Amino acid sequence: MIPAGRPVANNYPPLLPGPPSVSLFTGVNYSWPVLFIFNSVIMIALQQRTIAHFDLDCFFVSVECLNDDSLRGKPLLIGGSSDRAVVSACSYEARKYGIHSAMPMKTALRLCPHAIVRSGDMERYSEKSREVTAVIADQAPLYEKSSIDEFYLDISGMDKFFGSLKWTTELRKKIMKESGLPISFGLASNKLVSKVATDEAKPNGQLEIHFGEEKSFLAPLPVEKIPMVGRETGAQLRRRGVETVKTLSEVPISLLEAWMGKNGIALWKKANGIDESPVVPYYEQKSISTENTFPADTIDMALLHAELVRMTEKIAFELRQQNKLTGCVTLKIRYSDFQTVTKQMTIPYTCSDHILLEKVKDLFNKLYDRRLLVRLIGVRFSHLVQGNYQINLFDDSQEMIALYQAIDQIKNRFGWQYLMKGTNVLPPEKKK
Ligand SMILES: [Mg+2]
Repeated sequence: MIPAGRPVANNYPPLLPGPPSVSLFTGVNYSWPVLFIFNSVIMIALQQRTIAHFDLDCFFVSVECLNDDSLRGKPLLIGGSSDRAVVSACSYEARKYGIHSAMPMKTALRLCPHAIVRSGDMERYSEKSREVTAVIADQAPLYEKSSIDEFYLDISGMDKFFGSLKWTTELRKKIMKESGLPISFGLASNKLVSKVATDEAKPNGQLEIHFGEEKSFLAPLPVEKIPMVGRETGAQLRRRGVETVKTLSEVPISLLEAWMGKNGIALWKKANGIDESPVVPYYEQKSISTENTFPADTIDMALLHAELVRMTEKIAFELRQQNKLTGCVTLKIRYSDFQTVTKQMTIPYTCSDHILLEKVKDLFNKLYDRRLLVRLIGVRFSHLVQGNYQINLFDDSQEMIALYQAIDQIKNRFGWQYLMKGTNVLPPEKKK
């Protein structure tokens, strides 16, 4: 008899079979979950990437030294010479005095009164940057130019034939020989670790982190070594007792998310040496553009110029929002007969309105030659690289930088169209 209230034992075979097992070797049965993990490991191994990160050492300073040998080994500051100027870049020797970029020039000179000051030359730096890009483009199957002096190369698969370290070392030698500039590289299985490795290899060095050693390489480093950790985030983490990457990697991901939102998850991944982001080929890197078809075809020069200013300011603002610089401007004109003409110009890397406006107007004056009604105009910025806009402000003061920051803050808050150059304010009869 079965006591009341007790479930009846189920003597039927289960409706769903249990996980099947597969025998790979005689006498050993592997269940599906084990095989799944085994398979994943193989897949990861097959997809294992080799990424080289190249970074020119103290780029602006190195270019200055190339022009003037007497500057080598001296504390050198690059920036404006006015009373209110800031340091755009400085040599390793200057850094020993506690000087860093974005510091007021006055403070820097107080820390190191015998430092040599040179005004920057963005045209020359851009030229040297392009020279190095050409050497890399000639050698590397897939590369990304991430800033004016930084490159990521995806050389996965190359190791089978050449040995990736040997190949990268050769490339480094070639760049140094052809450009005359010192460059360092880091070699690893992803972009993040290769970048941190370059940083550790500097100045003028190279470092390879083998697959599987990413975490242990990062562990002892201070949290600020992770690229996305700025001064503010670093301080925030330190207040919470997180000083090394190891500690950061051990903080529960949910806690990091609670501390800093989505960025917390990204940060946890980085602390654990995980970064799946691909190397974006230079020719596929995005551009920023805008175009406008006029409600009625026009030949009104004041209107056309005002529109050029408006469009340039709009996308230059976008550029700064994305923390990017452009190295190439393209202008497009479509005439009333639908003939479309474009002209492009390679320019020193910039994101400043006043420099870009000058180039766009210059292009327009060269391109507009038919004295015909215009139906559409468009402006495009390409050859985009990461970069801060202080990079261009060699001759400008703290006020100029503050002005740009204030302009962008207002645009951020109210929309870009609410703040424009005085020249763009048309008399009422032109506004239609
Ligand atoms: Mg650099």
